[in-house]
Amino acid sequence: MSAGERSRGAAGEAVERGGEIHAQVLVLGAGPGGYTAAFRAADLGLEVVLVERHETLGGVCLNVGCIPSKALLHVAKVIADAERAAAHGISFGPPRIELGQLRDWKRETVEKLTGGLAGMAKLRRVRVLRGEGQLTGPHTLAVGETTVSFDHAILATGSRAIRLPGIPYEDTRVMDSTDALELEEIPERLLVIGGGIIGLELATVYDALGSRITVVEIAEQLMPGCDPDLVEPLRRRLTDRYAGIHLRTRVTSIEAVEGGLRASFASADAGEDASASGAYGARGESAAAPSPPQPQVFDGVLVAVGRAPNSQSLGLEHVGVAVDGRGFVAVDSQQRTSTRHIYAIGDLVGPPMLAHKATHEGKAAAEVIAGEDVELDVRGIPSVAYTDPEIAWVGLTETEAKLTGVEYKRAVFPWSASGRALASDATEGMTKLLVDPDTNRLLGAGIVGANAGELIAEPGLALELGVDTQDVALTVHAHPTLSETVALAAEVAEGTITDLPPARRR
Ligand code: FAD
Repeated sequence: MSAGERSRGAAGEAVERGGEIHAQVLVLGAGPGGYTAAFRAADLGLEVVLVERHETLGGVCLNVGCIPSKALLHVAKVIADAERAAAHGISFGPPRIELGQLRDWKRETVEKLTGGLAGMAKLRRVRVLRGEGQLTGPHTLAVGETTVSFDHAILATGSRAIRLPGIPYEDTRVMDSTDALELEEIPERLLVIGGGIIGLELATVYDALGSRITVVEIAEQLMPGCDPDLVEPLRRRLTDRYAGIHLRTRVTSIEAVEGGLRASFASADAGEDASASGAYGARGESAAAPSPPQPQVFDGVLVAVGRAPNSQSLGLEHVGVAVDGRGFVAVDSQQRTSTRHIYAIGDLVGPPMLAHKATHEGKAAAEVIAGEDVELDVRGIPSVAYTDPEIAWVGLTETEAKLTGVEYKRAVFPWSASGRALASDATEGMTKLLVDPDTNRLLGAGIVGANAGELIAEPGLALELGVDTQDVALTVHAHPTLSETVALAAEVAEGTITDLPPARRR
């Protein structure tokens, strides 16, 4: 093993440049998938080189995704909770926002995590090589002047925001999610193109910080793919707060005019596929699309219409790794690509594009390389929208069940009957379980309301363990908690619920 010049990277980890190095496992990309795979492989005794082009480790999630967005959403929640308290006799007045301080806090939160990762890489003797990697042969990767030869490779290069045609991205008032998280300024009138999870989370932040929000979504509901009944409480709140929500509508152009950016709109055609908005699942029954709004002028535009895999420019053609029509790398249940010693994980291999999916795939790939006979075999991967209210679901959705003809029984506990929800001013929520009508085993769950993202963990575990609603209903839950609503929904499924009016006698 030879190494060229050794120097210190920005995060303090050892960096090797020039010459040739060998790795038993090469990991390309240090997002949640890549760093997890690298750390797991090292813990299993393998020599690992981790290649990352960005200054810090952590990928989209830590640097410009999950973590900075949740730091800002935390602040948005504080502001919203303070507003709500006014209805109960507690007024704080309008918030005074020090943008610089807020940016610092978000940056420090991110730096704590990315710095921690650099330290953990060092402790595990994972060698981090900074730079853009490109495969040059079945067992070689070029990173600048360095060649890394490897026995096995794990590709974890993630995804990037999709760009729409006709949008002047060179105008600094037009933002993607990364720009929006920079929080350069708060536009008075903000157009959000894309009513999916990322668009609506960032809309929540800018709304709390004072922007007037308009959302345009090409599909016929906000958060396409999520069950409509879970989205409904959010839709109601946003309809009250936002300047406009235009469904089945597309933006046809954005142009700079005096006083802002002028957006023009058109109706989405009835037969149009909603995939441009990152949508998945059914669009449901289509009525005629509504008339599009008149052109409007905005101070800022956020484009959040989905993400595409970073699979070009990796040199996949040199190694015979197959990609599908959308650029996702095809893998089997052990994360192997069509070239057996090369694995791929995370956003690069397809939806759901979520950090926790990437980490599990990363662990599986590392373990398979280390000789373990494992594969990723999960019953559900939770999705969470950290909006206000939050929405979370795991396993089967009703949308999916209707599409695929899966039989299910639906058990709902409305939060208006939950003491804790009442005491927390969170009665708009609900907890829904979808169960097998013959066995009462859990097939899926959806929750809308405060902390839904935390609450979905219990149905997630129940689903993975294959338990039935009797197991959940008989598990004693603390009172008064929102987690109780999971057990109460299970009681609805069991017909033993006493916290709701009795079922009508036949
Ligand atoms: P990434 O995190 O994209 O990492 C890939 C890494 O590879 C990057 O660091 C990139 O620089 C590097 N790379 C790419 N090409 C090369 C190359 N040729 N050479 C060297 N390095 C390369 N998910 C959640 O689960 N929860 C959330 O709350 C959440 N919030 C989000 C909010 C926003 C605004 C966004 C944009 C995304 C959010 N996501 C969230 C999605 C989540 O960030 C991704 O699913 C996750 O980061 C994917 O991990 P990954 O390891 O596959 O790839």
